[in-house]
Amino acid sequence: MSASHHPSDELLLDYASGALGEAWSFAIATHIALCPTCRRTVARMEALGGVTLDASDAEPLAAGSFDAVLARLDTPLDENQPSTVEQALDDAPVLPQPLRHYLGADVDDLKWQRLGMGAYQLLIPTGEEGVTARLLRIPAGRPVPEHSHGGMELTLVLAGAFADTTGTYGRGDLQEADETLQHQPHAAPEEDCICLAITDAPLRFKSLPARLVQPFLGI
Ligand SMILES: [Zn+2]
Repeated sequence: MSASHHPSDELLLDYASGALGEAWSFAIATHIALCPTCRRTVARMEALGGVTLDASDAEPLAAGSFDAVLARLDTPLDENQPSTVEQALDDAPVLPQPLRHYLGADVDDLKWQRLGMGAYQLLIPTGEEGVTARLLRIPAGRPVPEHSHGGMELTLVLAGAFADTTGTYGRGDLQEADETLQHQPHAAPEEDCICLAITDAPLRFKSLPARLVQPFLGI
């Protein structure tokens, strides 16, 4: 099994060159942990850009900081160890190891916040002003209220799948959405859909009930 929806080359290039903010980088790094194809692409981009991975120049990382997690996710490519990546896809834990380590548990043991309609979220602190990172858990077969985006949204599927007018997204797949996309994602019927979502502006819900509860849910 491998991802079929990948970050754009532009996004990968921003990531490889260090131009992306840390929350966005977090999503790309998590995708790369699950996607050998993009892992190789980023390695090529880093090689072309002459990015040096000289650990001795790196600043010490504060324990538990978002940066520290990024550093763990962003391990240099080792072509001789492809099994590590494949293993990540088949591993029993839902969250890739660095994300699981950062949150201190796998999905069933996290302190989820109830969103209503059977959905849950878990906010992940980021060091980026105005940028929100969260895990979302949408019950199997249920829709997310139809919405558009005030800014950019990256959604990375970690378990289950969701579908909208742009396609079906399974584990490892990443969707880039911006102001032009209005959609109503549905979780696939087989199992709950768990996603990592990064947004830089509140979602714009179409229905009045969704708009009314939005301020209380912080979405
Ligand atoms: Zn990919």
